[in-house]
Amino acid sequence: MNAGETYDVVVVGSGAAGAMAALRAASNGLSVLIVEKAHKYGGTSATSGGVMWLPNHQLAPGDDSREQAMQYLEALIDVPVQRDRLEAYVDGAPQMASFLQSLGLPIGAGVWPDYFPELPGARADRSVVCDTFDGRRLGRMFPLMREQYTRFKLFRRYSLDLPEFFAISARGPGWIQAFLKILWRYWTDFGTRRIGARDRRFTQGAALMGYLYDEVFKRGVEVRLETKLEELLVEDGAVRGVTVSNFGRRYDIAATRAVMLAAGGFEWNQALRDRFLPVPGLTRHSSSPEDGNRGEALLAGERIGADTEHTGDAWWIPTMHMPTPRTSNFEEIHQAAFDVGRPHSVCVNRNGDRFVNEACSYDEFGEAMVADQLATGANTPCWLVFDATFRDKFTAGGFMPSIIMPDWRVGVDRWDHYIFKADSLAELAGKINVPAAKLAATVSAMNGFARSGVDEQFGRGGNDYDRMFGDPTVTPNPCLGPIDRPPFYAVPINSGDLGTKGGLKADARGRVLDTQGQVIPGLYAAGNNSGNPFGNRYPGAGGTIGPAMVFAYIAMDDVAAADSGATADEQPAEEPATT
Ligand SMILES: Cc1cc2nc3c(=O)[nH]c(=O)nc-3n(C[C@H](O)[C@H](O)[C@H](O)COP(=O)(O)OP(=O)(O)OC[C@H]3O[C@@H](n4cnc5c(N)ncnc54)[C@H](O)[C@@H]3O)c2cc1C
Repeated sequence: MNAGETYDVVVVGSGAAGAMAALRAASNGLSVLIVEKAHKYGGTSATSGGVMWLPNHQLAPGDDSREQAMQYLEALIDVPVQRDRLEAYVDGAPQMASFLQSLGLPIGAGVWPDYFPELPGARADRSVVCDTFDGRRLGRMFPLMREQYTRFKLFRRYSLDLPEFFAISARGPGWIQAFLKILWRYWTDFGTRRIGARDRRFTQGAALMGYLYDEVFKRGVEVRLETKLEELLVEDGAVRGVTVSNFGRRYDIAATRAVMLAAGGFEWNQALRDRFLPVPGLTRHSSSPEDGNRGEALLAGERIGADTEHTGDAWWIPTMHMPTPRTSNFEEIHQAAFDVGRPHSVCVNRNGDRFVNEACSYDEFGEAMVADQLATGANTPCWLVFDATFRDKFTAGGFMPSIIMPDWRVGVDRWDHYIFKADSLAELAGKINVPAAKLAATVSAMNGFARSGVDEQFGRGGNDYDRMFGDPTVTPNPCLGPIDRPPFYAVPINSGDLGTKGGLKADARGRVLDTQGQVIPGLYAAGNNSGNPFGNRYPGAGGTIGPAMVFAYIAMDDVAAADSGATADEQPAEEPATT
């Protein structure tokens, strides 16, 4: 190989999996380079909620255990998965959490029910969140980290942490104080206002990635932007490096110990969606960054004989899209994950039938859309139908509650394209081409369920997760309110995604396997570049970033252990590098 540069480890992709791989490899004394195809680093992870699902994390005294975590996962997962990989995850989660804690990351468990709270072993303390980060600690790399979507910011400007997001979006207790504090902090930050509009207060995924990259940069690791993986270089049956391209120039970089593929999923590659997903959907319905994850690393792996697993699925989330303000030729995606389960609303397919407990988790909602589309051909999109009470109180995708965005402020181009409105349900049904009698019957049944508090069809509002996003002022069931106050509205909901669930088949140590089940020496994968350890399931909030980081951590210990001749399991517990 004629490579001008050599590192112990080359990491492809700079999201949560890539950042953790680089951090752990560097902490293990290995030389590392991250190559990132986009003009900014951080991947989808930096735009995300930054929640990590870490069972048995042991961050605070508690009674979660390996056994309870396995009990939950075994009850949850209903497709074949690699049992040792699942166990490696449950064992690795507390180790990775302890590593983050030892570096001083301000992480802690949120109160967030697992997504299937009725299953044995479920808990409400496995979703770990990170406190805010001061972006200016990253120095010149501050503006180069991928920014959270402005649509997730308050008035497209002010960063929100998760408690603020939930308080303000549902106008919960303390929302006015939170609102005023955010404005005060932003406008009195004179130093940063001189640089630009970007809020230095990194929250959610930006905070997590801020802390990770602070540690990565302290260890001297370079993130090389605009540098795209083209091919994996193989010598004597082992991966020895990568060919990358940068503004059209191709060159090789040698990796003496490992290439770690952490280049995300294939959600922005329509050909791969069409090849793998049962209901392919459209790339533009994905809520990950458009210029990032197109499956090049998956294809590069396939070209050298790597196997894949769980590629027939995505991390689904209901979304709707609208033109971006001030750049109306572009559309932006709005997530509707929590909106679809709020009271005074119902979701129907194009036959006017319900198909799911709308208050379930977003991934389960998406699974139901896909299943209904396969069964009826009348879903993707479906309709979120709601009344004036809902419109007053809650967001509907990109439409803020009418107290903030009254109907007269909704642009004329939005009506009858992105939102539909009518004085009667029958008229609304005509506008959205849903059979009027069926819609009336569905709404009438929902109104009966709202009165009794029991959704006899799908059990909406029947568990802690559902109720978390309900309205506590609505009784007897916070997820069920009558849909009876005109005008009536409808918003089309797509089967959007947060990324794809399947990828290269990696084993319990993150090593990529070939189609014969043999390890491909020198090649590792983590995050959405690899198969979901939970098969087709999303166990709880943080169920994608948790495994991304845990398997990156495990993999880089495996690389370091291979050097010392021991397996990772035999290695003594390591002290993280001090900085
Ligand atoms: C709004 C939003 C909120 C979310 N919230 C959460 C949450 O709170 N918890 C959770 O668990 N999940 C969440 N998700 C999902 C989660 O963000 C992703 O599943 C996760 O970040 C994937 O991490 P990753 O490291 O595998 O990939 P990414 O973070 O997407 O990083 C992959 C990187 O690889 C780069 N890349 C791609 N191809 C190449 C190539 N050929 N060469 C070089 N580089 C390449 C990409 O540009 C990208 O930077 C959320 C998603 C969204 C959109």
